[in-house]
Amino acid sequence: MKFLDLQKQFIALKPEMEKAIRQTLERSEFILGPTVEKFEVAMAQFCGVRYAIGVNSGTDALLASLLALGIGKGDEVITTPFSFFATAEVILLAGAKPVFVDIDPTTFNIDPGSIEQRITKRTRVLIPVHLFGLPAQMHEILQIARGYRLAVIEDAAQALGSTYQGKRVCSLGDIGCVSFFPSKNLGAYGDGGVVLTNNPKLAAFVRKWRVHGSVVKYIHDFVGVCSRLDALQAAILNVKLPHLTSWNATRAKKALLYTSLLRSCRSVVTPSSVPGLTHVYNQYTIRVKERRDQLANYLQRKGIPTAIYYPLPLHLQPALRHLGYRRGSLPLAERAAAEVLSLPIYPELPNTEIRRSVNSILQFFSQTS
Ligand SMILES: *Cc1c(COP(=O)(O)O)cnc(C)c1O
Repeated sequence: MKFLDLQKQFIALKPEMEKAIRQTLERSEFILGPTVEKFEVAMAQFCGVRYAIGVNSGTDALLASLLALGIGKGDEVITTPFSFFATAEVILLAGAKPVFVDIDPTTFNIDPGSIEQRITKRTRVLIPVHLFGLPAQMHEILQIARGYRLAVIEDAAQALGSTYQGKRVCSLGDIGCVSFFPSKNLGAYGDGGVVLTNNPKLAAFVRKWRVHGSVVKYIHDFVGVCSRLDALQAAILNVKLPHLTSWNATRAKKALLYTSLLRSCRSVVTPSSVPGLTHVYNQYTIRVKERRDQLANYLQRKGIPTAIYYPLPLHLQPALRHLGYRRGSLPLAERAAAEVLSLPIYPELPNTEIRRSVNSILQFFSQTS
């Protein structure tokens, strides 16, 4: 069994995919152009926003968003300590200071109730992360943002397609960021990302930024970067995007099966479902209340791969030591890091494998307790 099997998806899409790739090679337009534009239009429509701008990665999408908002030296950006490193990295790359707020232990997402006490005169932006595919509590977050005139960037790298009270993520805040890293729900065959917004000024900035701050060839209005979504990746994503909703629904069914089979197990807590929100399960992550690492080793020996997202919260990362957080600063994120375990989930994962994984988990706790 594999933790994630991308080959199965390729085999199912093979004729369509080979045609799309061949057409791109035959056309030989590799940088921007109609294939990228087609994908951007489809993405904007999918998320229910006016503008989508393809970039090189989810990380660049986040960095572009901060720079578009004018964030830099002296500014503070509030985010969650329980995410992939890039969420905090981009704040420092922009020249600003990340401020971490502890998580809601039931959703693993930023706790809106802890945000206000960390707002200062310098706070400019909130970056909620829709971790594992579950939207953050956006109503509360947007209310705080309005009250303090802060911008909101949604880190939806793991959550493309999930909805919050009927609206797709990336249409809720000022800007949304998505990653097409191969393991995300909509994965490219390499790196890729997109910025989504309704704001024409922010969109225009990102459109220039990704091409060296230029819109008229060889005239540079500001210093940007080289960060475009490849036409080849856009061609691949154009094939995949129409399948995303059904893939996400299948992931949710697989998650439901895990949750129902794990119901009798007192030692694990299954992912919480929140009314009004859909979860797209980029990860199916349980909380293991005792002996998490022993369970992971036991499953490994039985041929069941698992993963820990994330073993070390951001405020304790060696690279962020200078921010001055200590063990105990954000206890709920630290506890999550010690207890989480992600089980295999992807649309093509056979239900028999889910049953086998759960049986092994139940066996582990019955043998050793
Ligand atoms: C994957 C991911 C990113 C970064 O995306 P890349 O495309 O790998 O740069 C950012 N934030 C979160 C929460 C992610 O999961």
